[in-house]
Amino acid sequence: MVDDVYACVVHAAGDLRVEERPAGEPGAGQVAVRIEYGGICGSDLHYYHDGGVGNFRIREPLVLGHEVVGRISGGDLPAGTPVGIHPATPCGACPECARDRRNICASSSYLGSAARDPHIQGGFVQELIVRADQVRVLPAELALRTAVLAEPLSVAIHAVRQAGEGAVDGKRALVTGAGPIGLLVAAALRQAGAAEVVVTDLHEAPLALASQVGATQTIRADTTDWPDEIDVAIEASGTAGGLRTCLERVRRGGTVVQVGSLPGGDTAFAGSLLMTRELTLTGAFRFDHEFDTAIALLADGLSVDPIVTHAFPLDEARAAFDLASDRTVASKVLLDLSGDTQR
Ligand SMILES: [Zn+2]
Ligand SMILES: [Zn+2]
Repeated sequence: MVDDVYACVVHAAGDLRVEERPAGEPGAGQVAVRIEYGGICGSDLHYYHDGGVGNFRIREPLVLGHEVVGRISGGDLPAGTPVGIHPATPCGACPECARDRRNICASSSYLGSAARDPHIQGGFVQELIVRADQVRVLPAELALRTAVLAEPLSVAIHAVRQAGEGAVDGKRALVTGAGPIGLLVAAALRQAGAAEVVVTDLHEAPLALASQVGATQTIRADTTDWPDEIDVAIEASGTAGGLRTCLERVRRGGTVVQVGSLPGGDTAFAGSLLMTRELTLTGAFRFDHEFDTAIALLADGLSVDPIVTHAFPLDEARAAFDLASDRTVASKVLLDLSGDTQR
């Protein structure tokens, strides 16, 4: 237990603060986790820059962060146990939960999300109290700095699964957008048996990383020289342009999965291609059981470490967020919450 804890809190667009929060005590069925690393996600960056992500707007101060790992500091597990935290708490009672589609439960709580009122405060805090069933004990040999990728890797694994059972095995896949999610999708595609993984982005630095984590070919988004017979395209840039590329480049009868967060409201898209080329277009949102798969794959040595390009102490959260926003330099940027803050 600690007396006071510091957290990384967004108050409004552009207003990010490191500030004190009251420390809590774990209640029945809860544990306290001393957070060591938090990964800054695209959605955290949207909250910081835009005051919201998609259709979710900030209406009160929000502790950011849903990609967090640390060590048990209170509750029924031994102190010091390394754990990953599943950020979702589905309701367990709605039709989606009953259909084992818990990731799209409308009443789910998700760490660091403004989807609901009051907002669900996030994990960029020195000590976090969560339900005991949210934590996963990590294998001792898995470094926490790597384990922090389990959450975004779960998103990537889910996106690949949304393409359909066996849809990528032995096939050629395209990933638009080589941000951390796109890179992890590339790794997950290879792991799922894709023979070829083509990754496209506007920038060279993320494409170089893509080659390190499983892409068999990288191409600049402005190229005119596209491979043909792409069976599955996974849109990970969260842009209308990326979606158009997927709809145009996937083969006739192919499948497109939208996993990137498109802006809220309407997105113009080439609906006529969907019809004339008889494409399947599906969404991928968060994940459920994939979290355990992701931890197992990371413990197994899935090579995704190059995606973590920087780590900053909590005190320098603003610098971390600013750097994470520069895609020509940074990929996954971590907050290191394990040290004392100077505040
Ligand atoms: Zn995330
Ligand atoms: Zn539910």
